[in-house]
Amino acid sequence: MRALWLADVLRDAGLTVFEVPGWRTRGADGWGPVRGITCHHTAGSRTSRDADEIRVLLEGSESAPPPIAQLYLSRSGAWHVVASGTCNHNRVGWGGPNEGYGNDALLGVEAQHSGGTEPWTAVQYQSYVRGVAALVRHDAPGWAVTTGRVAGHKEHQPGAKFDPTFNMSTFRANVSKEIREWDVVSPEDIDKIANATAEKVWARKVTLPDGREVTMGTIMRWLDSAQLDTRNKILAAIAELTPPSGGIDA
Ligand SMILES: [Zn+2]
Repeated sequence: MRALWLADVLRDAGLTVFEVPGWRTRGADGWGPVRGITCHHTAGSRTSRDADEIRVLLEGSESAPPPIAQLYLSRSGAWHVVASGTCNHNRVGWGGPNEGYGNDALLGVEAQHSGGTEPWTAVQYQSYVRGVAALVRHDAPGWAVTTGRVAGHKEHQPGAKFDPTFNMSTFRANVSKEIREWDVVSPEDIDKIANATAEKVWARKVTLPDGREVTMGTIMRWLDSAQLDTRNKILAAIAELTPPSGGIDA
């Protein structure tokens, strides 16, 4: 498969996304099923430029043929989509959550970072968390990635690789939290949704068994003033009304 949705998914998460020309056809087709994500850092210089880092991903390095990874994350927090097919960012792992899996089952994210003691800026780290959370959350054919299968390269090839320099357990916890909070709605928003829904329900026209067409609002007013047995008849009549096929919005 090709992950042609990469740019859209990251953009929909509110992230800044650049599409490296040719990404839709870059990397071998037939990638996947994808089981996990490998987090890397580029180990470039502290003052590296995006263009130079991306050139390495496109041209390859001494240890890996191109393309090296599907995604590149700048120090600025911006994402660059490099490839949609299989890339060459790691070996078949001998450790970590993706042990036994290699490039044909793993997506690679290369973050612009020199390694060593360089601190991760909040803007880049938060974008790393947000972007990976968006990818984990995404649903697509050939894509079966969970938070538990987000691994650091250093976990995947222990003893041989040391990237990224941040703690991967913390990173996975951050990704989990991000996903949990994704669809949380504020009490104010819930009120708005409830009111808007009530208005729609109120305005909905229904045809009574005797052929009269009235709004739900009218029926509610009848219910308010009706005697108990009348009220029960109205409720029974409502229950018999055939619901519209498309729900209240139809
Ligand atoms: Zn790496």
